[in-house]
Amino acid sequence: MPLVDIGANLTHASFHDDVDAVVARARAADVATVIVTGTTVLESRLAAGIADRFDLYCTAGVHPHHARDCDDSTIAELRHLSVHPRCVAIGECGLDFNRNYSPHPDQEKGFIAQLELGLEVGKPLFLHSRDAHPRFAEILRRYRPPRAVAHCFTGEKDELHAYMELGLYIGITGWICDERRGQHLLTLVRDIPSDRLLLETDSPYLTPRDMRPQPKARRNEPAFLPHILRTVARALGRAPEEVAAETTRNAERLFGIRHESRASLTSQRAASA
Ligand SMILES: [Zn+2]
Repeated sequence: MPLVDIGANLTHASFHDDVDAVVARARAADVATVIVTGTTVLESRLAAGIADRFDLYCTAGVHPHHARDCDDSTIAELRHLSVHPRCVAIGECGLDFNRNYSPHPDQEKGFIAQLELGLEVGKPLFLHSRDAHPRFAEILRRYRPPRAVAHCFTGEKDELHAYMELGLYIGITGWICDERRGQHLLTLVRDIPSDRLLLETDSPYLTPRDMRPQPKARRNEPAFLPHILRTVARALGRAPEEVAAETTRNAERLFGIRHESRASLTSQRAASA
C-alpha cells in the first residue's frame, strides 16, 4: 500500500552523500512519494532540485527559526519558487516559541506574510507550531487557509481540537513512538478525523525511538515511514493497510498530487483484468 511522506528534509547535510540510496530505499519500502520540506529560500531551491531529480514534490517557505531573515524580497523569491511544477505547498512556516531562534515579532510577520502568499497563489500551507499555541491558532483564525497541515503535531488535546476546528490536516511523526514524550499521542490520534490524518518522518530528525536496530548515527529517513504507520494503526486499533490507504488519499487531496505508483498500480490492474 503506497505511502506519502509529507515532510522530509532531504536537503539536510546528512543526506548529501547518499540521497540516491535514501530515495531508492524509500521506494522499496513502498513510500511512493516524498514531499521535500523547504525551510529557507536556499533550501527551498535545493528541495525543488531534489524533487525534479527524483520525481518527488517540494514546499517553498521560511521556517520560523529563520524568520529574522524573512523580508519582502524573501517573499518575492518564495512566490517565484511556488510556481515550480513540483512545489505543492507554501512553508514550512509558523511559530516556534520553543527554541526562539528568531524574535516573536519577526516570527509572526514571516508567518503572516507566508499565509497571505499561500492564499494569493492558491497553494496549501505547510505549518509548524511548537509551544506557540494559542497564538498560532489566533493568527490562523484571522486567515482561515482552506487547505493546510499542522505538520509534526506534538501538542495536547486543546491544541488538537483548535486545529480541527480550523479544518487543518494533522501530520504525525515518529514522535508518537517516543515513550518519554509522545505517549499522549497514542490516545490523541483517535480524535483526528480519518480524512485529516497524515504521516511524515521529518527526516533526518525524530528517528522512531523504538526502532530496532537503531539506524546509523540515528538518522531518520523516509523508508522508516511504515514503522510510524504501524504505530499509528495500532493506536487506532485499525489495520495498517486501511490507515495507509486513507493517509495517502488525504495527502493526495490536500496537496493535489497523484503519484506515479498509484497510476502504475491502476494500469497494472487494468492490464491484468
Ligand atoms: Zn517543523
